[in-house]
Amino acid sequence: MCSGAGPIDVELAERLKGKKYKCKKCGATFEAVGKHPMCPTCESEDVVEV
Ligand SMILES: [Zn+2]
Repeated sequence: MCSGAGPIDVELAERLKGKKYKCKKCGATFEAVGKHPMCPTCESEDVVEV
């Protein structure tokens, strides 16, 4: 059994994500993890949690 990223990792990722952010620059909304979310559209870090 060397499947690498198994169901446990997926479950953990699902639990970690779910924080939604909105970019103040372009208005895009997205989900991100970590302390420094970045807009995937314009790559701005000027985002707010929604
Ligand atoms: Zn943006």
